[in-house]
Amino acid sequence: MMKDTYTYKIGNSLYVNLTNRCTNRCTFCVREGKTEYEGYSLWLKGEEPTAAQITAQIGDAQAYDEIVFCGFGEPTYRLEAMLEVCGYVHARGGRTRVNTNGHGNFINGKNIAPLLKDNLDTVNISLNAPSEEEYNAVCRPQITGAFGEVLAFARACKESGVNALFSVVDCIGNEAVSKCRKIAEEVGLPLRVREMIE
Ligand code: SF4
Repeated sequence: MMKDTYTYKIGNSLYVNLTNRCTNRCTFCVREGKTEYEGYSLWLKGEEPTAAQITAQIGDAQAYDEIVFCGFGEPTYRLEAMLEVCGYVHARGGRTRVNTNGHGNFINGKNIAPLLKDNLDTVNISLNAPSEEEYNAVCRPQITGAFGEVLAFARACKESGVNALFSVVDCIGNEAVSKCRKIAEEVGLPLRVREMIE
């Protein structure tokens, strides 16, 4: 059996795969119908990795542009491990980013934005739709009020002074992207439009 992939390199960044768990089932998710991405087997078949297993694979954090918490699931399910790894990376002069679906406060049952503030250099929040109805169609959330969660989390990040931004995938269309831009402006965060990953 192939070993589980805890970290994988894309460009000059190292991606960290902490969990398969996610509160969404996005139609465009790289994991839909797949267990591999860019030649890596990302679906964790065994235990989720510990912070120590991750830091052992990172080694020299400065060798990378960023250490990115991403992977096949929602990283904030592993908040404690993620923060521990961030401490390791920062102690070695590296940079950290999380790509999140914005449900972290719901998942952890508390406002996690103050904890992210000094640990994550960038918090990239997937917005992906300009309304609850469209969000539900695209992201197929497994929790109720998911779209509201994303906006509330983004506002909490803004309030805590977290370096956060919204991202959307371009496949949602120009009109939806411009509506998302308005939402981002209202919250006071930048919006990044990214290409859909095939
Ligand atoms: S939030 Fe991310 S990991 Fe979860 S289903 Fe959507 S794209 Fe996949």
